Amino acid sequence: MHARRITVLAGGVGGARFVRGLRSLVAESAPDAEVTVVVNTGDDVWLTGVRVTPDLDSMLYTLAGVGDEQRGWGRRDESERVGAELQAWGVGWPWFTLGDLDLGTCLARTSMLRDGLPLSAVVERLSRRWPLGVRLLPATDQEVETWVAVEEDGERRELHFEEWWVRTRASLPALAFTQRGVESAVPAPGVVEAVEQADVVLVAPSNPVVSIGTVLGIPGIREALAATSAPVIGLAPVIRGAALRGMAGACLTAIGVETDAAAIALHYGARSAGGLLDGWLVDDADADGLPALQAAGIRARAVPLRMTDDDRTAAMARAALELAAG
Ligand code: GDP
Ligand code: CA
Repeated sequence: MHARRITVLAGGVGGARFVRGLRSLVAESAPDAEVTVVVNTGDDVWLTGVRVTPDLDSMLYTLAGVGDEQRGWGRRDESERVGAELQAWGVGWPWFTLGDLDLGTCLARTSMLRDGLPLSAVVERLSRRWPLGVRLLPATDQEVETWVAVEEDGERRELHFEEWWVRTRASLPALAFTQRGVESAVPAPGVVEAVEQADVVLVAPSNPVVSIGTVLGIPGIREALAATSAPVIGLAPVIRGAALRGMAGACLTAIGVETDAAAIALHYGARSAGGLLDGWLVDDADADGLPALQAAGIRARAVPLRMTDDDRTAAMARAALELAAG
């Protein structure tokens, strides 16, 4: 494994599991390698007076080992006394739980933001509490939020992504996704450098629309990916035509992309044809999609892609680095 600087684009849960596996691979076989993770901020929202950053916190908690593995989000050993009190006051979203420990993180973050720190500096400070082993960067310091156009009770309206995802469980067909505020956003400090100076860029098995798609939508990030001399290698977030741990399929359907490992790679496109990818890993079960990818100019291989534990996930990361090198 020769890559010394590894940069990952990631969302929350899928991204965090992947980075944890990558971190064990690096610890084992390249302890001097530096891993930088560019994390989606499109799910962020102001709620009950605090700034909630779901994907950054999934990443933080998972890498720190303090996350709730069963639930897949939030803190382990969590209580909900404050949330219950907020509900009694009629504040916040009753269907959106924020545990007490989680609210502690949100309060700390909001306090730092109120002091005038940009989100990237806040993330840097929050990252010091635990030895994460990787550097976390928000995709942007500006507030860029994903909103979802739906038709509800015969009326077209827009919901914040978290409302669509959590309250409706993505059950209302999404008519369109918009990134509010994206026109004036720029990549957070360090993001463009992390992409341009990387030896390899990995696209985590994260939601292609509202995680990776949102990161790519920040003006300047796609350009950096096109310009970097590093190979860009992605991992399919979909196996046998279905998303794992969630409803990512609903997002793909909304943008007219089949929930299929090869279709997602073709949606990202080959870098040689102006797209994102030099290489793409699909699960063994999706090996029949390889010829179409090769034909499109994307180096592709089939390997097991289920992140059931750190060793298996580390093997996925190794396969991605091998594809980058080969
Ligand atoms: P979110 O922000 O919490 O939704 O998390 P991400 O966007 O980072 O990841 C969501 C994606 O991870 C979904 O498309 C899932 O299908 C994918 N995913 C979750 N677990 C696995 C797994 O074990 N293997 C693979 N290949 N993808 C997974
Ligand atoms: Ca997310």
